[in-house]
Amino acid sequence: MKLLLGNAEFFDGTSAAVRNCQIWFDYDEMVLTDLAGDQEYARWFAAKLLCDWTSQTVMVVELNKPTSTAYVKITNTETAQSVERKIRLVAGLPKRENTKKIVFGSLASIALIAVALIFFLPVFSKYAVHNVPKSWEAELGKSVEETLIPALSEEKICKASTGQAALEQMAKRLTKGMDLPFDPVMTVVESKIPNAFALPGGRITILSKTLEVVDSPDELAAVLAHELGHVKHRHSMQQLINVAGTGIVFSMFIGDFTGGSIVASVGESMLDSSYSRDMEREADLFAVQMLENAGVDSTGLASFLEKIAAEHSEANALTQALGFLSSHPPTQERVDTLNELADPEAKKTPVLSEWQWESLKNICSETAELSA
Ligand SMILES: [Zn+2]
Repeated sequence: MKLLLGNAEFFDGTSAAVRNCQIWFDYDEMVLTDLAGDQEYARWFAAKLLCDWTSQTVMVVELNKPTSTAYVKITNTETAQSVERKIRLVAGLPKRENTKKIVFGSLASIALIAVALIFFLPVFSKYAVHNVPKSWEAELGKSVEETLIPALSEEKICKASTGQAALEQMAKRLTKGMDLPFDPVMTVVESKIPNAFALPGGRITILSKTLEVVDSPDELAAVLAHELGHVKHRHSMQQLINVAGTGIVFSMFIGDFTGGSIVASVGESMLDSSYSRDMEREADLFAVQMLENAGVDSTGLASFLEKIAAEHSEANALTQALGFLSSHPPTQERVDTLNELADPEAKKTPVLSEWQWESLKNICSETAELSA
């Protein structure tokens, strides 16, 4: 999914022609297209770009490569500033690569490959995950959810139909045009802990306390968008490949925001796992793109993270002491990045109506056992 930042002039370096172009960001690449957005002039990795302010208002961007003579000139200062900001932020992300699709015949072969890969992990899990058939991952996600939910302190699922409909409406608006590998399946579970997590196969579990802790439906949408970012990149499947063979499959299903409480209940087996710094960054970046694409306020994730960090500093201290979150980006770093990524000028409309939000907050007015 591409994010449009504005217009500029493209010089291809071989002819004198000036071409008016649009500047887009597509994950970690800057893309230049014609004004209709159809024809691509150039696609450059943001990590390889140089920004040069030729005056107070004009910025030139070019590839940091002696052989490259093409460049783009941005005369709109605001556009130039946001391009520079994105380049700086996106440059820190790992390079996206396309992997060849390999189709495996059986579940057993997937398991074998996963175990073989363990020696090279986690470097390869990012690529290996593309070899896992989606149908298999979807089945896995379902069974993981059935195992996980009873392991949480309360095991009732919340299922008031108007609330569920509002949640689905929210996800539909967010995911439109975002090309997710799975249609998200969301379950709200009764709990006193505010948290959410993405399981394999696009399954997202939201603990009901989250609905009380968020200040607005937009803030909840930001939390959901972050989880959808993990779905987009199949992070939980990557984590599963990472821990395959070590017998600590549970380890990856810690809550995303307040890991500590669940750590305590599931135990030491989870010590080695948490989403990596890069995974969290990927999910955050995708969340902001997704929210802006949907015209939803993208500042909510930062405010939610701050709130959770403040309210659960004890849990964080515990998990940090265990080394559990050691590779996790510090909350403040994520908040700063999110605040920079979020475009305060972006056009926003509320993600849910007041009535829908009321329904969603009351989703636990009807509950059921997981098996029901
Ligand atoms: Zn996360």
